[in-house]
Order: sequence, then structure tokens, then C-alpha cells
Amino acid sequence: MPENKVKKYFSLIEAWAWCDICEDMVALRVDKKEIIDGLKMGIYTKEFKHSNQIPDPEDLDDLSGQEHTIYVYINDSFDVTGVKSFFGESPTTEEIGAEAIQEGTEIRIPIVVKDISPMAVQLGMLNKEQFKVLKICDGMNTIEQVAEIAQISTDEIEKMMEELRKKGLVKVIKRT
Ligand SMILES: [Zn+2]
Repeated sequence: MPENKVKKYFSLIEAWAWCDICEDMVALRVDKKEIIDGLKMGIYTKEFKHSNQIPDPEDLDDLSGQEHTIYVYINDSFDVTGVKSFFGESPTTEEIGAEAIQEGTEIRIPIVVKDISPMAVQLGMLNKEQFKVLKICDGMNTIEQVAEIAQISTDEIEKMMEELRKKGLVKVIKRT
């Protein structure tokens, strides 16, 4: 699959994100201000509803002509660090980590248990990195995907999850 691309301008970015449903790059524009505001809450996710204007008429499995959503994770350098495609309100549990099942590995999905405000960082209860990672644990990402989106090694994430679990902030759901 092609790499996600970003062109950065003075006040906005233009991003091309890979949509698994369209099996194509989807172009979107996002205001930098919106991203900066979003990042105050840890991570920024752009929700983008669209439908493929030219679905493959020969392919009955191609449902990309129906409206669907991509979540595009954008970091503080305005780069795309992850993309999720799904129909409806959110990805189904079966869709999360579907590619990992094919590889035969256990799927671990970390989920935030408590809603944490940015105040927790100011009070020194959490560091910035932990706060960011907690926001990515939205129940739609496996441990490996959280690592990718946060741009932290999987080992680091595993350690962090253990700490956050002990603090009672996160739980890890396992599926095989
Ligand atoms: Zn699409």
C-alpha cells in the first residue's frame, strides 16, 4: 500500500491517506489550527466521511461507493501516523487488528478505563507521552497500532501499558 503523504502550507495541510475500503488514496485538507487545538488533548484525529466516486462495477465486493469514514491520526509535525477505514460509526471488533489475525498473532486492544483530563499532566500524575498514548487507546487500535500512531517502539508501549494498567487507567482486551 502506498505511503500516506502530506503537503504542509502556512495555515493548512493537504494530506493523502490510504483508504482500505476505496483501495485508493483519499485527499483531504485540514487547518493547522484545528490540529494544534486537537493535540492539546493528546492526539489529533481527523474524521473524514466520503464515498468512492468510481467504484469497480465488476467487483461485487467493492462497497466503496457507499459512504464510509476514515480516521486520520496526525501528529505535532503535521504528519499522518495512522489511518482507519470503516463503515458506520466505528470499526467493529472483528475489523480491529484483522490483519494481525492473518499473521496468527494474539490481538491485544488497550482501552482507556478512566477519562483523563490534561490537568493530570500538569499535576504530574502522568507524563505527556503517557497522556498521548492514553488518547490513542480508543478501543480501535491494537498495541502495535498504538505504537505506530504514537511513534514509540512496541517494547516501550508494552512497558507503558503495564504502568498505566497498574494505575488503573487502562485495560487490555485479548483476542485470538
Ligand atoms: Zn474510502
